[in-house]
Amino acid sequence: MFEPGRIAQSLLRGIRLRCPRCGHAPIFRGWFVLLARCPLCGLAFEREPGYFVGAMYVNYAATVLLALPGYFVLDHWAGLSLGRQLLLWGAFCVIFPLWFYRYSKSLWLAMDYFFDPGEPS
Ligand SMILES: [Zn+2]
Repeated sequence: MFEPGRIAQSLLRGIRLRCPRCGHAPIFRGWFVLLARCPLCGLAFEREPGYFVGAMYVNYAATVLLALPGYFVLDHWAGLSLGRQLLLWGAFCVIFPLWFYRYSKSLWLAMDYFFDPGEPS
């Protein structure tokens, strides 16, 4: 069943790095430490080993979807040389995924929870 309100709610909670079930508790402690469970509702964040492989796809897709058009936009509008473009986008492709790491995991968790909320609490 398609529920746009529930999709938007899941994605907003993912973007805000909050638990997809209750929407209140943060899912990370610090920058890189993912909590095992939500401290408020008890939802397990890592459901099984290898669960966050999908988050790597989210991170990769976001990086490519920004870098590839970014290259062509800068090539057209700024006229940067190929060497400068490679330097710029090479650095971007290293730094952006590190920054986006938490968001990719949170968005993956939110999407998975949207499609399969059936974990017992
Ligand atoms: Zn929760």
